[in-house]
This record gives sequence, C-alpha cells and structure tokens, in this order.
Amino acid sequence: MATNILIADQETHFFSDVCKNFDHAAQFTKHDAGLLDQIKSCNSVYRFRFPIRKGNSFEVIDAWRVEHSHHQSPTKGGIRYSEMVNEDEVMALAALMTYKCAIVNVPFGGAKGGIKINPKNYTVSELENITRRYTVELIKKNFIGPSIDVPAPDYGSGEREMSWIADTYATMNPGQLDAMGAVTGKPIALHGIAGRREATGRGVAIATRECVSVGEDMQRIGLLPGLSGKRVIVQGLGNVGYYSAKFLSEMGAIIVGLCEFEGAIYNENGLDIEAVFQHRKATGSILGYAAAIQEFANTMEGLEQPCDILVPAALENQITETNIRNIQAKIIVEGANGPTSPEAEAIFYANGGMIVPDMFANAGGVTVSYFEWLKNLSHVAFGRMNRRFEENSNLNLVNMVEGITGVALTPVQRSTIIKGASELELVNSGLEDTMIRSYHEIREIYKSNPEIGTLRNAAMVGAINKIAVSYQNLGIWP
Ligand code: NAD
Repeated sequence: MATNILIADQETHFFSDVCKNFDHAAQFTKHDAGLLDQIKSCNSVYRFRFPIRKGNSFEVIDAWRVEHSHHQSPTKGGIRYSEMVNEDEVMALAALMTYKCAIVNVPFGGAKGGIKINPKNYTVSELENITRRYTVELIKKNFIGPSIDVPAPDYGSGEREMSWIADTYATMNPGQLDAMGAVTGKPIALHGIAGRREATGRGVAIATRECVSVGEDMQRIGLLPGLSGKRVIVQGLGNVGYYSAKFLSEMGAIIVGLCEFEGAIYNENGLDIEAVFQHRKATGSILGYAAAIQEFANTMEGLEQPCDILVPAALENQITETNIRNIQAKIIVEGANGPTSPEAEAIFYANGGMIVPDMFANAGGVTVSYFEWLKNLSHVAFGRMNRRFEENSNLNLVNMVEGITGVALTPVQRSTIIKGASELELVNSGLEDTMIRSYHEIREIYKSNPEIGTLRNAAMVGAINKIAVSYQNLGIWP
C-alpha cells in the first residue's frame, strides 16, 4: 500500500517540476503568455495498451509515446523500459527533450516513449515481441518515421531494441528509402554511427570539464579550476554512468564512489571503473569489490560521501529536500534526467553549490543521434567521401614543408599529420564542439542577470527564446 502511494505521488511530480522550472525561467523572457503556454504544453500524448503472449497466457502491456513540441520536425526522444514508467514521467521527459534539443541546437522537437515493464522479467524473445508490437502501434497512429518522430534508447533499452524497431519499421514500410532514419541508437552494423553508444557519457564528461574550467565560478564555490584530481561519485553504472565515469577518469578526475541499486562503494584513492564493471558483470553486484574501502547497503548513502562532483546517472528524483543537506559535493552534473528536485536545487545553490542541468549535461546522446539521423538520410558514412582526399592534400603539404625546410619528420609525426578523420573522430569532434559552445552560451545567460540564479534557469531561458522564434516564424495555421 505504501509503495502505491509513493508511485501515485511520483506520478504527479516530474512534469510539474519541469513546468515549475519553465515558469521560473519564463519570467526572464518577454514572450506572450499564450506562446509560452504553447511551448510548455505537451502537444500529443498517446497512451495505449497491447497484449503479448507469455508462456501459455496473455499479458496486457501499458505503453506511451508523447510528442511534446512540433516547432521542429521530426520529434525525437528515447524509449524507457521500466515498471515505474507512467504518463507524467513520459510527458516530463518529452518536455525535457524539447528544451535539450534547443539548447544544443539540434533541430528536433521533443518526444519520449515508455513501456511499463521490468525487462528482467521477460525472455529475449518476449522483449522482441513487446518491442515490435510497440513499434506497430506507433506506426498505426503515425507516431514514428524519419520525418515524424524518431525514437532512441533510454533507461532499460539499447542497441538491440533499436534494431528490432528499425527492422519492424522497414518491414512495414517497404521501399521507404530513409526507413533507417526512423530510429537512432542502432548498432553500427545496422546503419548506426560510431560513438553513439558512449555519446551521452562522453558529453557528461565534457560538460563537467567545461564547468570546472571556469576559474571565476570555481573560486565562488571554493574549488580549484580543472578536472585533474577532482573527486567524483557516480550513481548508476549503466550506459550513461559507466561512460561518464570512464571518460571523467580518462580526463584526470578520480572516481571515488560508485552507486548502483544494490548498494554503493567508496575509496578516496580512486576506483578502477573497468574492474568494478567486470566485478559486477561476474557477481551481479558492485558490493564485494576487493579494492573498495567502504561499502553501503543503502545506495543513497553512497551519494553523501566526500567528493567534489556528484554525477547522478540512474533515475529521476534521487536528490530531494530530504538528502540534499547531506550531499558533500560542490557540483552536481545531471547525467540522468530529473535527478534533482527544484526544492533541493534551491537549497544546494543557497549553500554555495552549482548544478549542471540535465537538459544540457546529458544532451550528448541526442546530439550524436542527430548525426546518426543525418548519416541515415544521406546514406553515406561521415568521412567516406573526403578522407582520402584530405590525406593526399596533407601528404602534399608535408612533402612540401620537408622539401623547403630540409627537415624530415619521423614516420609517427608524418602519419599523425597526414591521417584523415574517421567517422568516430568526426562524431567526437562534433559532439565536443556542441557541448563546449552550449555550455558557454548557457553561462553567458547565467552571468547576464544575477536574478536568473541557476544554470538550469539560464539553459531554459535560452531554450525558450529559440523555440519562441521557431513558433513565431511558423505562425499559426489555419
Ligand atoms: P541504463 O538502463 O543503461 O542504466 C541505468 C543504471 O542505473 C542501471 O545500471 C541500473 O541498475 C542503475 N540504477 C537503477 N536504479 C538505481 C538506483 N536507485 N540507484 C543506483 N543505480 C540505479 O540507463 P541509461 O541509458 O544509462 O539512462 C540513465 C539515465 O540517463 C536516465 O535518466 C535516462 O533518461 C538518462 N539519459 C540516457 C541517455 C542515453 O543515451 N542512454 C541520454 C540522455 C539521458
């Protein structure tokens, strides 16, 4: 009974939290109230149920697809597979997608999908049936297509599910040239793109690095600039958490704590992400990892251990009024969507912290999904047309410089200079450029008016202004 109340309570929270953030930020814009209302509302909410066969019986599955905003087409957003999924959550996540895309200048409207199941309770073949049937339901209502609405992975789903969606869509739309653009996050062998799998985590790491690179901001919160030696705790060792931890540690940060749903581990001298990941794969738990100095059966305790930066990368609503005062980090970088409640955020800033908000911090995934979609529409891998040409031009240049100077480069120097960019290098470079530019765009807004108060409000102000321009240009028809 208590669980039901909790779930019911959560059902009404998340979208209204996002709307609260929107309303607060909207005060710093000059748009018509009706236009603001249009931007904030979810345009289309499709709730549906379908049966699947489980053993000798049937089971009815609840599912959703929400298209929050059509100011750009297609709409875009992941599909969440979770028994906790509900309509409010899918609406909130769809709205966040709209703002996220605007912040990183990705020309999509926001959308999100949800399938109310715990994937662990189903066989692979049952999951395939659920995914394919979900896709067919979307096709029936025109809620999927390369120019309509393009799903991607989210909590509980990955490349495997995206392959089933791509295949179902292509089968149901024979001859459609751009069918593979109907879903992103596909495996590379099925028209996916190099770098998509790790894109969100890489983006989180770049966002963190940019944030700590600003000396003035670090001085205000009492940290030295630079990522080197910063102590980081990461919650969630899934796609976003694992890659965030991996890239942060490669950039010089020390991962001192890791939290999963079964518990948390801590070592102030640093944890080896790969070793913890392999330990969890082998034993089913991060607990029992030999090099951990402390273990916590209650995962939430892990968030409260000493660190400089906390990266919640599991689920929403993890940092609230009840635990924010125990958080020792000075910076929270939101890898997950909606991990911090508005009340907790206000307390954290008042106590001298800062939060890099989800709608920017985890936008690396949709940025590279955009690159994948472009690749699918152009039917050619990035770099394929120009790599050899670039290498030949570089070779001529190197030969010329060596000829003029009489200095011969080493073979390693020659190949480093001559080598043309691969798809992965181009994707990573486009992602890095997007994250860096967007962070400083947000920070400029943040600095422009002290009353804006938080980076989240600043990000939202920027997003509202861009979406408002799109709507104004589109007009209203009829
Ligand atoms: P995932 O399913 O790959 O991983 C989630 C991880 O969190 C799992 O390892 C799970 O065991 C763990 N977890 C669940 N409950 C927990 C708890 N209470 N405490 C600690 N750990 C817990 O999912 P993901 O794709 O990494 O998504 C995580 C978050 O990032 C979600 O909020 C999602 O919306 C957001 N996000 C994902 C992407 C993406 O590209 N995958 C992009 C943007 C945002």
